[in-house]
Amino acid sequence: MQPQIILLKEGTEASQGRSQIISNINACQAIVDCVRTTLGPRGMDKLMVEAQGKATISNDGATIMKLLDVVHPAAKTLVDIAKSQDAEVGDGTTSVVILAGEFLKQMKPFVEEGVHSQIIIRGVRKATQLAVQFINEIAVKPKKDDEVELRQLLEKCAATAMGSKLINQQKDFFSRMVVDAVMMLDELLPLNMIGIKKVPGGALEDTLLVAGVAFKKTFSYAGFEMQPKQYTSPKIALLNIELELKAERDNAEVRLENVEEYQKVVDAEWTILYDKLEKLHLSGAKVVLSKLPIGDVATQYFADRDMFCAGRVPDEDLKRTMKACGGSILTTVADLGDSVLGTCEHFEEKQIGGDRFNIFTGCPQAKTCTIIIRGGAEQFMEETERSLHDAIMIVRRAKKNDAVVAGGGAIEMELSKHLRDISRTIAGKEQMLISAIARALEVIPRQLCDNAGFDSTNILNKLRQKHAQGNRWMGVDILNEDVADNMEKCVWEPSLVKINALSAASEATCLILSVDETIKNPKSGEGPAPQGRPGARRPF
Ligand code: ADP
Ligand code: MG
Repeated sequence: MQPQIILLKEGTEASQGRSQIISNINACQAIVDCVRTTLGPRGMDKLMVEAQGKATISNDGATIMKLLDVVHPAAKTLVDIAKSQDAEVGDGTTSVVILAGEFLKQMKPFVEEGVHSQIIIRGVRKATQLAVQFINEIAVKPKKDDEVELRQLLEKCAATAMGSKLINQQKDFFSRMVVDAVMMLDELLPLNMIGIKKVPGGALEDTLLVAGVAFKKTFSYAGFEMQPKQYTSPKIALLNIELELKAERDNAEVRLENVEEYQKVVDAEWTILYDKLEKLHLSGAKVVLSKLPIGDVATQYFADRDMFCAGRVPDEDLKRTMKACGGSILTTVADLGDSVLGTCEHFEEKQIGGDRFNIFTGCPQAKTCTIIIRGGAEQFMEETERSLHDAIMIVRRAKKNDAVVAGGGAIEMELSKHLRDISRTIAGKEQMLISAIARALEVIPRQLCDNAGFDSTNILNKLRQKHAQGNRWMGVDILNEDVADNMEKCVWEPSLVKINALSAASEATCLILSVDETIKNPKSGEGPAPQGRPGARRPF
């Protein structure tokens, strides 16, 4: 048998073994330290400046991780779990990163002592499984058919999600709005049917919820002022057609003998355009929206005939209008009938702040709504949008799957106690591993205290004692530097958020522990330039 030889390119770095795992764990710790302080209602925000100088202020774990531009291959895993948490449940993005970091930290001594990775991984998996099972057991479910109770539950969950954000002063106002918005959607609760628009100026409380589609008025030509700005049950034509005279010189070369021929060319252009406009008019459409420009001739034509038009409507807005009002987006006006025209109960162009908005309400097809955010600085509104997004996701999740647990570290402390109890009944290394995970779970309440400036040792001791006495929902009381029953205090979170965070954190931990070798290729292009192959065809 010939010995196998692997040849790697010159400059390839390879590191392996136990020290590799430790160094990966250390890299993850560095990432966790970046987001640690943003957790909870007293968490701080981060200001991040990108290469182009764009500044973003955020408290959202996923946003921060995305902007961090992590290059360490193992630490990237943490960025990915934050992103996946964001996509899956929306909230809990900071928690998931902190949890993963703490799991790794607690596992580090085992790696150092030479416990095999596979044994550690098995322990972590088992602990997670036990924890998830336990969450499902103890989660509180409200009575399903009680409308009032369900609404209350949703509002509480939204308020908890927003409690840790910049807008926490207005969280009651916004949690009502977010629940209203989600309630307007149909069964499937599609997220893209909630549009979020930002208009600078005004106070945060001027933010309004429109029960329908709304988008900013687009660029318009002269003649627009004469168009009516309000209709009741108009027919709506949605187009992907340019209603503009083309300047001939841009597109073609025409050789002419005399002036009359030129006139014919011009006339032909007009005829084509007028033909389209006439078809639109005859179809009975009152509102014409197009993705492409609508020129001055068309604008004036519509104005004369008591019609409204808007060109250059952004793609997503046009699609949302189509979904809400019915009809189709047309690329030709040949077959304009009622089946391809949309409609709504009321259309209006309205002034909101410094901008004019086209608003469609009473849409027959899909249920949709638009939140128009008002506020001062651009960054502030962007963070508001992100916070609302978190809250909307949470409400959607909670509506589908309405079991809740108490936040503020309560559920983590209870899980920790449960795992510790179980670990005592198990023999061998697994016992140590499960109780290490139990210890790791305490990081959430500890960090909540640290971020609020409380004495975390003190509070954690109190919490441990309360949980040992069977007070299941005791958590950190952020307002009074004490412990409190967070179920009564209405700090509620969907159990799904916690289950997802736990599973994702444990996945990431196992992944990082299972990597014992990194092989880095030299960057392509850095080495000597590739020589042309003999016989290869060269360009002339
Ligand atoms: P994440 O991105 O993980 O959602 P947050 O900064 O939103 O991070 O913080 C969430 C944590 O703050 C959760 O553990 C939640 O239970 C806790 N929390 C939220 N509101 C309160 C409150 N009023 N009192 C105590 N803890 C709270
Ligand atoms: Mg949150």
